[in-house]
Amino acid sequence: MSRVKIPAKLRQRIAEQAKHRCGYCLTSEKLTGIQLTIDHIIPIAAEGHTQEENLWLACRPCNEFKGTQTNAVDSESGERVMLFNPRTQIWEEHFTWGEDGAIIVGTTPIGRVTVSTLQMNHDLIVYARRQWIKVGWHPPED
Ligand SMILES: [Zn+2]
Repeated sequence: MSRVKIPAKLRQRIAEQAKHRCGYCLTSEKLTGIQLTIDHIIPIAAEGHTQEENLWLACRPCNEFKGTQTNAVDSESGERVMLFNPRTQIWEEHFTWGEDGAIIVGTTPIGRVTVSTLQMNHDLIVYARRQWIKVGWHPPED
């Protein structure tokens, strides 16, 4: 998690670009009622800067599980790949919703390592997604 103060106007701009959703698991601030955190895509610990092009929204679990990691080994291909970059990469090109809509499935090495590293299908979020599905709020439409 960022310990750097982000100016309010910059935070607002990033939130609008991210559609007020976590760039990784797509959880919406409006569904949880909890403000999302600002993620340093390349962490400060890995020389990432606090500049708009390195910042995106993330929910607290995604941000904390990501920590200072930038890459991981894909168990299927054995390749070491970068984690998903929500600013420069397209979510649908690396992930899809599993059959019941509550589970995120990585469809590429980048998608798979990001799902596992960020624990994007932890019990609490899957439970919440199932409740949102019942009322038609999930998966996100766009
Ligand atoms: Zn998330």
